[in-house]
Amino acid sequence: MNIHEYQAKEILNSYGIPIPRGMVAMTSDQVERAAKMMGGRCVVKAQIYAGGRGKAGGVKLVHYPEQAQEYGKELFSRPLVTSQTGPEGLRVRRILVEEAVEIAREFYLSITLDRETSLYVLIASAEGGMDIEEVANKSPEKIHKLLIDPLTGLRPYQARKISLELGLTGTVCEDCVELLMNLYRVCQEKDCSLVEINPLVVTRAGWLMAMDAKIAFDDNAVYRHREYPDMMDYSQLDPLEITAGKYDLAYIKLTGSIGCLVNGAGLAMATLDVLKECGGEPANFLDVGGGATREKVAEAFRIILQDRDVKGVFVNIFGGIMRCDVIAHGIIEAAGAFNCTLPIVVRMDGSKVEEGKKLLRESGLNVQVGDDLGDAATRIVKMLG
Ligand code: GDP
Ligand code: MN
Repeated sequence: MNIHEYQAKEILNSYGIPIPRGMVAMTSDQVERAAKMMGGRCVVKAQIYAGGRGKAGGVKLVHYPEQAQEYGKELFSRPLVTSQTGPEGLRVRRILVEEAVEIAREFYLSITLDRETSLYVLIASAEGGMDIEEVANKSPEKIHKLLIDPLTGLRPYQARKISLELGLTGTVCEDCVELLMNLYRVCQEKDCSLVEINPLVVTRAGWLMAMDAKIAFDDNAVYRHREYPDMMDYSQLDPLEITAGKYDLAYIKLTGSIGCLVNGAGLAMATLDVLKECGGEPANFLDVGGGATREKVAEAFRIILQDRDVKGVFVNIFGGIMRCDVIAHGIIEAAGAFNCTLPIVVRMDGSKVEEGKKLLRESGLNVQVGDDLGDAATRIVKMLG
């Protein structure tokens, strides 16, 4: 689960990490008023669930309130496209207006989960700012990494080593040690999968400050934090993702043309691999989970059919807890309701598989039943080819 920059900054600030003074605006008039309160000269920042805003014109230094208003109008008027949003971009519903800070140096700082070691990893670089991806590609030696032992947590001497590696000395170095310790506390107590400050700056006046912030919460821990659901900005999500969330279905949008309905994450991964191997391109996948009901399958099918990129549907289900005839009913119900004429290929196995196949064959839908996963994947690719 993602949140906006201004929300991430509020959290950091509540852990003692300095942030610029700022206000959130929902209209261009509010942008103007906020700019006035900041003294005219300020930074106007589009709040979207993606980075790369600086290079895409989503962050701008303005010099007087009218300029802030004009720029706010522009940002609110159309989706913002950055290197991270995809070509359709994201709509801007909130704008952060911040005091303009004189920056002396920019650093990169983050704590995230390292999937290989199953540990939090602290990542830091003295070459922070908008070109961090390029630094990581071209000069990886400038990126410092430290794995954090969950038993001991981040130790002050480790934080000091990182601060020194960033080239900090004196009181700023000590401030950075404290900031790193606090950042690790944020990660743990707020159940984050990512906390990123880019750039962390040293101001002309010699203070450390989080100039940008990104936080992602671990979805599996959201139940432990009552305030999280209210922090979501639904304007930033794919409408189909929202519907899927309501029914507790995992829906992931991809770029191809085959909609995939699968039960179980492992089977979903295998399905995508086999489809790709047969020359197919998945448009999405929808995992209905282990013990889905007929209604859930029907809802999942409906979501897949609403994805305009879908030109054919591939169903791969293993009926263990779930019976194949129940799944067949769900598919027939949803496809019927949508007058679906798209090619459908179903590969199913397990409980009541013969009943399920029979129901599908007699349904009158444009459906084929595969013998096994390879056969079924070949069929859907051929039907679309
Ligand atoms: P991102 O491109 O989406 O990561 O957006 P950022 O919030 O990181 O902003 C991009 C760049 O704008 C930063 O790297 C800073 O160099 C600059 N910037 C952001 N806020 C301020 C500010 O208050 N003062 C100044 N001078 N520059 C800022
Ligand atoms: Mn940034």
